[in-house]
Amino acid sequence: MYYDAHTHLNSPELFADAQKYVQNFIDIGWKSMVIVGASDEYNSNSIKILKNYELRVSNWVLKFTFGLHPEILIQNNQIQSLKSKVEDLKKLILDSGCNSAIKPEWKNNVVAVGECGIDLYYPWSEQTLDLQKELFAMQCDLAQELKLPLVIHSRNAFEQTLDVLKNYRDLTVYFHCWGYWPEEVKRLKNFGLKNLYVWFCGNVTYKKADELRESLKLVWEDQLLLETDAPYLSPQIIRWTQNEPANVRYIYDYVSEFLWKEKNALQEQIEKNFRNIYGL
Ligand SMILES: [Zn+2]
Repeated sequence: MYYDAHTHLNSPELFADAQKYVQNFIDIGWKSMVIVGASDEYNSNSIKILKNYELRVSNWVLKFTFGLHPEILIQNNQIQSLKSKVEDLKKLILDSGCNSAIKPEWKNNVVAVGECGIDLYYPWSEQTLDLQKELFAMQCDLAQELKLPLVIHSRNAFEQTLDVLKNYRDLTVYFHCWGYWPEEVKRLKNFGLKNLYVWFCGNVTYKKADELRESLKLVWEDQLLLETDAPYLSPQIIRWTQNEPANVRYIYDYVSEFLWKEKNALQEQIEKNFRNIYGL
């Protein structure tokens, strides 16, 4: 059984053929995937997937998060309108699954707020740092208010991410697509977050990614999840092709070999973690 803890069937690259990608995932022996929101477009595509019974297949196989990625600040740098965007996000989350009074059958569809965080990779990003922090903090507040975990995107911005998180140590946080050094895993472990999880995607398989593999060794077995982050970051074996959820199997294969852990045992461990972490 495979679990993809973080994927974007709602992205422009995958959305039109979402049904096909779900089928491919079923064909490899799937169990569940979490479709992660990042912008208005991603979030509204998620709603379309959520409403499409055919795609949901069964009640808990497709799960969702809704959030606003720091990249939305390329188009939007008005703090006032960001506030209203986060208000809209809250409404979207409540209407799509948290508020079981509205649609009892949609209860537990939404498993987290995010992805959100700080990204200083692009040339434009330094100028928007203050706004990025503000947008990130607003979503931390929302996660606190709705009692949901938070999916964190953090790239080239470890210190800046901690600078916001220091005010939210009681949150359950998922650092997705780990992109830092083992030293940073150690620092996070000692940072005092109530519930911390660190997950890995296809870049852990890249030839030059020794720091990610060393980080992987430091992550607790019961907090590990694997993800594709599709359509991005295809694993090494099929690198430079478009990624999709079914490719999570290559990441399982790689991690199983790297950690000297038998494939079945790894699958069992991840299944247990997935259910615990996403509260399923
Ligand atoms: Zn993502």
